[in-house]
Amino acid sequence: MTDQYQAFAKSPIGKFVIKNLGLPSPISLDRFESAAPVVQGAVLVGSAAKSVFSGEIAQVLSNIHANAYAGNNTELQQAAAKAGLSLSAFNDGDKESKFKAVVFDASGIQDSEQLKALYAFFNPVARQIQTSGRVIVVGLTPESAPTVKQAIAQRALEGFVKSVGKEFKKGIAAQLVYVDQDAAQNIESTLRFVLSPRSAYVSGQVIRVSKGAVVDVDWAKPLAGKTAVVTGASRGIGEAIAHVLARDGAHVICLDVPQQQDDLDRVASAIGGSTLAIDITAADAGEKIKQAASTRGGLDIIVQNAGITRDKTLANMKPELWDLVININLSAIERVNDYLLSNKGLNKNGRIVCVSSISGIAGNLGQTNYATSKAGVIGLVKFTAPILKDGITINAVAPGFIETQMTAAIPFAIREAGRRMNSMSQGGLPVDVAETISLFAATASTGLNGNVVRVCGQSLLGA
Ligand code: NAD
Repeated sequence: MTDQYQAFAKSPIGKFVIKNLGLPSPISLDRFESAAPVVQGAVLVGSAAKSVFSGEIAQVLSNIHANAYAGNNTELQQAAAKAGLSLSAFNDGDKESKFKAVVFDASGIQDSEQLKALYAFFNPVARQIQTSGRVIVVGLTPESAPTVKQAIAQRALEGFVKSVGKEFKKGIAAQLVYVDQDAAQNIESTLRFVLSPRSAYVSGQVIRVSKGAVVDVDWAKPLAGKTAVVTGASRGIGEAIAHVLARDGAHVICLDVPQQQDDLDRVASAIGGSTLAIDITAADAGEKIKQAASTRGGLDIIVQNAGITRDKTLANMKPELWDLVININLSAIERVNDYLLSNKGLNKNGRIVCVSSISGIAGNLGQTNYATSKAGVIGLVKFTAPILKDGITINAVAPGFIETQMTAAIPFAIREAGRRMNSMSQGGLPVDVAETISLFAATASTGLNGNVVRVCGQSLLGA
């Protein structure tokens, strides 16, 4: 689907009209291109005194060959030297330098008074962040803070980051990464994601990193040798997920209903994958998925993306519409996961990634069935994560307004509102959801378990 308003906004007359009427002005967001550097521009780094993750942050910046800058900060300079990161000096009062990303380690903030460190670091550079830039605050998971005062101060970071996401505009995305005390070594996949254009439509989010195994990966092909199943892969978001996982090196088994066989074949042949034409609600769906992956070393990743809407107000909803939506969007996912987990259907260090929706967070008129199913998916992730074994993880993405056939069917006025009511003033693309799924699917994402990340451009709904 094309966004005609965005095209109009780029034209000379469009710019004039939009400026004078105070309308939202969506910019063209940077998106990931293979072989491009993780960050295309300078990165400013800072830290509060006694922060504990600066060493790992410096290591990641060194690994991605970042063009990094820092002010006069001895702790940071020592951490950078240890990580082999060369830091250029950023001088107080420099109003000329521009940054593509600004990263601040706030983990050392011990109490509410010390939150001033956020102000002191970000206030002078708030106007020096480029379009499609990134603001990343790394904090200590409040629940793992040693004192109540520190837990409170760390929890406060969320309000700061979410406000920056709303304030900075120009396609700048702001994220908070909470890291457990003992999980510093597990932040690389997350930091690479939030720094890069792969997180184009993710903003105002909190990603929690806990301790997991440390694995060596080829970052150019982070899913090399893995076998993935993507449900609902014949079109829309599922098609984009299949493409991104294949780009990252996985063999993708594209699953959809038999009626979609032609489109399934088209997607699978474009990415060198295979197909599995089944209905995900069938009683033997879990067994069929296991079998399909068995000739390829077993299943490493399952992306539970297939989903439908059947919108009606509750008063007008026939019981079969309720049943259909709950069954496809929630019960089938539970059944397939249960089958795979209790029948050795998922390899060690396997990944389950589910697709929820901001409707499941905010609720939506005419969507009692859909929102119930998608809130259930969030529950599924939350309550399954702690009981998983063998390094298996489960996470979910919650898309907001994504330009697909599903959203093309929404009446014009509601569609336009959905598109603009977010910090990016535009809808997301299927690839934005797919990139976030590939973060959770990544072999290196051992420390991500039980997360729900919204891919919604920081939509106002349910925020
Ligand atoms: P879509 O309708 O374009 O694609 C969904 C795919 O799932 C279709 O190919 C369909 O055939 C398949 N499917 C449906 N029932 C199935 C079944 N029983 N077995 C196997 N496959 C089945 O939708 P989309 O916009 O690409 O959405 C993908 C997912 O993202 C869904 O879970 C949806 O709820 C969610 N989502 C979408 C948006 C959005 O803005 N498009 C927003 C939030 C969440």
